[in-house]
Amino acid sequence: MSADLDLYQDIVLEHKRAPRNFGALASATHRAQGTNPQCGDQISVALQVAQDRIVDVRFQGQGCAICMASTSMMTEAIKGADVQAARQLQQRFRAVLTGTEEADETYLGKLVSLAGVARYPNRIKCALLGWHALGHALQTPLATTAPEHTAS
Ligand code: ZN
Repeated sequence: MSADLDLYQDIVLEHKRAPRNFGALASATHRAQGTNPQCGDQISVALQVAQDRIVDVRFQGQGCAICMASTSMMTEAIKGADVQAARQLQQRFRAVLTGTEEADETYLGKLVSLAGVARYPNRIKCALLGWHALGHALQTPLATTAPEHTAS
């Protein structure tokens, strides 16, 4: 099981210990949940989107180290990003984990530390769960408050 060493890199364990952007987001405009029954991972991702930019992001729930670290690093990577850029990152990260694209650190940044998950097919879902939730959240705007009518 020594091969697990490249699965659980220090940065992965560190994000599992202290996940970034973890908690509720009162100002959320978009939200979605992700569940991976195979592993027991269950998380929800909340976004505050304004003018096609992800102004803020938080996630909640529980999961294994790979799931928590991947989602934590995702929030760091997409916070402040254009929706379009976040979608592109999601697609490229997914492509790396499913083996259709080489890991490129200049593009992925810290996320490159999860590239080794591609060699563990039963863990790929763990690493992608938060990203799937992100994709769903971007398509799931929360019900807006009743439109304002100006008195006339
Ligand atoms: Zn998992």
